Amino acid sequence: MTDSEPNKLFPNWNQIQQRLFRYERILEISQELAVMFDHQALLRVIVNAASELTDSEASSILLLDSATGELRFEMASNMVSSDLTNIVVPIEGSIAGWVVTHGEVRLIQDITTDPGYSQQVEDATRVRTSNLLAVPLKSRRGQVIGVLEALNKRGPAHYQDDDIKMLTLLALHAATAIENARLFQQSDFMAEMVHELRTPLVALKTSTALLSRSDLPDEKRTDIIETLQSETERLVRLTSEYLDLARLESGRARLEISEVSLEKLLYECVDIVHPQATERGIQIKKAIPDFAVRADRGKVKQVVLNLLSNAVKYNREHGIIDIRVTPLLAHEEPFAQIAVADTGYGIPQESQRHLFEKFYRVADTSGFTQGTGLGLTIARHIIEAHGGNIWVESELGSGSTFFFTLPAIQKLA
Ligand code: ADP
Repeated sequence: MTDSEPNKLFPNWNQIQQRLFRYERILEISQELAVMFDHQALLRVIVNAASELTDSEASSILLLDSATGELRFEMASNMVSSDLTNIVVPIEGSIAGWVVTHGEVRLIQDITTDPGYSQQVEDATRVRTSNLLAVPLKSRRGQVIGVLEALNKRGPAHYQDDDIKMLTLLALHAATAIENARLFQQSDFMAEMVHELRTPLVALKTSTALLSRSDLPDEKRTDIIETLQSETERLVRLTSEYLDLARLESGRARLEISEVSLEKLLYECVDIVHPQATERGIQIKKAIPDFAVRADRGKVKQVVLNLLSNAVKYNREHGIIDIRVTPLLAHEEPFAQIAVADTGYGIPQESQRHLFEKFYRVADTSGFTQGTGLGLTIARHIIEAHGGNIWVESELGSGSTFFFTLPAIQKLA
């Protein structure tokens, strides 16, 4: 008997085979999800699996923000996540909101006639939706943490019972994986944080013990007070950068996207680091045409300030910093490329690929100046969340150039 011949014993043979294949796939996918701890990568696997298992054109995930109670689009199978993070879906009156409040499946075969249908979401996701299947993502304690949606059954078909079963089963594994990734990140973070806090805390303990000695000469006392001040500052910087990074890594940090003038933003940042640069006789040159980008102004400013203050810290005395902005096309989309070049010590080849990892500091230069080794990790998270890239080119002894890209409003060339 061939595959195409009808099976007399099991007239539904094809359907049974298809069902078996889908269960086999869901087993494979659940194994993959169970060992993933990167929030964004995990969500991407889930939406792709949802499209595959229900034979849909697209899928998306919405998650409830436990701090604000808002329901947000987090990922869709057909687009970059940065386009979605700004979409808050009202709980009241929306389809996803209904699924969250009722904790039940919602199947809509003709979406345009549904009162909960959202034109805003359709415009943003650029998917013309005709039918939709939405299932709740439930935590182990039965709490609804979000919604998994499949959009547009392929072919002129409707969603069937099998699709509902598949998506519900996937949602069960997906919710557990999302919760596990959150817990893993928290515990991983705690361990590293405690480790990093130990050095400044030991310095503070030693200094305070010395200060209490009555036989301490006055000049020594001044030195110790300076150490106390700088170690306290380091602790404050560590904790606040750490919290920033924890928010970015867990996907809790939100981008507030608007149209941002790069010229204004970069000039503002130059003004801030200017006194620091002048103190070391460093000159800042700039070639900044006025491009508008789609970005979270505050977060991009944080990235630029980090790159500029590194270019001052790791530059030679009387060195130069050069800031350049150039237009770029990537996959037909307009981008702006920002480059910050210095004439400093440069970064050894083998260190370059570790620069954007948490706490990494190049051994040769870490003694010159204080730092946390978190600035570039935070920068990478922020730029990638915008759909851009960040990288370094550097030559030992002559200097480094840090590049990053951001989506531009219009074609710039
Ligand atoms: P921090 O400067 O607080 O240590 P960063 O994450 O900003 O942390 O940078 C990580 C490390 O990368 C720095 O400690 C330094 O070793 C190296 N680095 C960063 N920028 C430069 C630069 N412009 N030139 C040389 N080394 C750099």
